[in-house]
Amino acid sequence: MSKQTQGFSIPISRRDFVKLTGLAAAGLVMEGGNLPKATAQPAKVTFGEEKLPVLYETDVCVVGGGPSGTAAAINAARNGAKTVLVERGVALGGLAVLGCVYPFMDTHAPDSDTPYVAEVKERLREHGIEPYDGVTEQTWHNPETLALIYDEMCAEAGVDILYQTVLVDTLKDEDEISAAVVQTIAGLYAIKAKTFVDATGDAFLSRSAGVPYERGYEKTGNNQPLSFRFEMGGINVERLYQHVAIELQEDWCKSKPPYFEIAEAMHRKQRYKLEEIMAQGVASGELTQEEAEYMQGYTIIGKNGVMSMNCPEIPVRFSATDPVSYSKGVTFGRRMMHNIASYLIRHLPGFEHAFISREAAMLGARESWRIKGKYYLVEDDYHNQSRFPDAVCRTAWFIDAHGEKVSEKLPQGGFYEIPYRSLVTNEIKNLLVTGRCISASFILQASMRIQPTCMSIGEAAGIAAAWGISHGIKANALRWEDIPTDERSYVSEG
Ligand SMILES: Cc1cc2nc3c(=O)[nH]c(=O)nc-3n(C[C@H](O)[C@H](O)[C@H](O)COP(=O)(O)OP(=O)(O)OC[C@H]3O[C@@H](n4cnc5c(N)ncnc54)[C@H](O)[C@@H]3O)c2cc1C
Repeated sequence: MSKQTQGFSIPISRRDFVKLTGLAAAGLVMEGGNLPKATAQPAKVTFGEEKLPVLYETDVCVVGGGPSGTAAAINAARNGAKTVLVERGVALGGLAVLGCVYPFMDTHAPDSDTPYVAEVKERLREHGIEPYDGVTEQTWHNPETLALIYDEMCAEAGVDILYQTVLVDTLKDEDEISAAVVQTIAGLYAIKAKTFVDATGDAFLSRSAGVPYERGYEKTGNNQPLSFRFEMGGINVERLYQHVAIELQEDWCKSKPPYFEIAEAMHRKQRYKLEEIMAQGVASGELTQEEAEYMQGYTIIGKNGVMSMNCPEIPVRFSATDPVSYSKGVTFGRRMMHNIASYLIRHLPGFEHAFISREAAMLGARESWRIKGKYYLVEDDYHNQSRFPDAVCRTAWFIDAHGEKVSEKLPQGGFYEIPYRSLVTNEIKNLLVTGRCISASFILQASMRIQPTCMSIGEAAGIAAAWGISHGIKANALRWEDIPTDERSYVSEG
C-alpha cells in the first residue's frame, strides 16, 4: 500500500498551484491571496503516478477526531507541537458524537480521570450540562455540546482541524511515515509530519504503513457486532419512568429523570423487566428475534424528551471489517431501527408520541482492526490487574464482548493499567496509536474500549508525541517513564 516519498519542493507558481488543486473553487483561498495556515511554498510529493501538493508540513498529524484523536491533538498542541487533526466527518467526537454513543461509561477504576478527562467533564458543566446524576459514575454528556467543546479546545490549543478529510494512504521513508495522503473537499493532498498518530479506530493509518494487525475474535473470526445507534424525540420521560421503575419495578437504573435509562438484553445472564414486552413483539410477529434481542436507551441531558438508543445490534454475519458486508449491514440495521422504534411507539408507555429524531452518521463499530505493537494486552492483564512502569492510564470496565464473553467486574477498587508500549510498534518509528485500536487482544479490547479510557490514552499519545519531538526521540524509542512526572498525565504507582 505504501509508496516511497520522493522529490519535495518542486518550484511551482501560486497561480499554477491554485489551478492544480482547485483551492479557489473550493473557497479556500482568501481575499488578498493568502492560503489558509498551510505551507506557504507548496511542495509536492510523489504518490504513484501523481504529484501531490503538500497542504501542511507540521510536527504532529493526528488522523481521526474521535475521543482519543481529539485528546491526542489537543495535548500535542498544548505541549508545543504544531498539530493537524484530520477527520472525515464534520464534527469531532467520533462515536461519541457522530455515532450517537452516549454516555461516557464509568471506568470503575478509582481516580482514573486523567487531567484532560476531568477538564472535558468540567467544560460540560460550564456549558450547562451537569454530567453527574448523583447516583452512578457515568458521565451524561450531550453530543452537540461535546462537538462545540472540542472545537473550542482545539482552537484554544492551536490545533488545525481538517474536516471532511479522509486518510487514503501513507508515504514511507524506510521505517518512518513521511506523509499522509488525504482526500479533502478540494482533492488529494499530502500532509508531512514528524510524528503521526493513528486514531482512526480502525488502525487504518497503521495498516497502510505495513504495521501487523488483527481483527475479530481468534476463536470465531467474528468482530464484535455493529450497532446503528439513533435518537428518539417526543418521549414522555416521566411516564416512561413511572411505567418502568414504578409499575414494572425494574431496578436496573438507579437514577431518576432527567437521568434515566432503559435496557434489556436477552443473550445476557441478567434478566430485565422490559424483556417481556420485546418478547411479545416477537410472538406477535411485529419484531424479529434479532430486533428484540438487545434494546437500550438513555436520556440526553439538555435535550428534553430525547433518548439515545443503543440499538439495533446488527447480527455478526454483517462484518465490521468487510466493506460489502458492512454496507449491507447499514441497510439491514436501518430497517431494524425503524421496526424497533415503531414497536416502542405502539407498546411502551411514554413513547406514544415519539419519533426517530436522528440516526448516527457513523455506524457503531465496537471493534474492527487492532494493531500488534510492542506490548500486546491480553485478558490476563485484566484479571491479574497488571501494573506497568510505563502505564499511561488505568481502567476497570468489565470485559464486554457482545455475544462472546462478558466478565465479572473486578473487585471494588481493582484496576489494570495500559502501558505506553501498547501504543507504539516495532515497525514504524514515528507512529503512535490511540483509542480502540491499540495493541490488545479481542477480549481485552472489549474492556479498554470505553470513551474515558480512549480519551486518557489519546491524552498520553499527544503528550508523548510533543515530548518526543522536542527531545529528538522517536515515538517507538521513547520511554513514557522518562518524561518528568509533572509533565505526564498519569504516573503508575506500581
Ligand atoms: C454501539 C456502541 C456503544 C458503545 N457504548 C459506549 C458507552 O455507552 N460508553 C462508552 O464510554 N463507550 C461506549 N462505546 C465505546 C466507545 O464509543 C468507542 O470505543 C470509542 O469512541 C473509541 O474512540 P476512538 O477515538 O478510538 O475511535 P472512534 O470513536 O471510532 O473515532 C474514530 C474517528 O476517526 C475518524 N476516521 C476513521 N477513519 C478515518 C480516515 N481514514 N480518515 C479520517 N478520519 C477517519 C472517524 O470519523 C472518527 O471520528 C460504544 C461503542 C459502540 C460501537
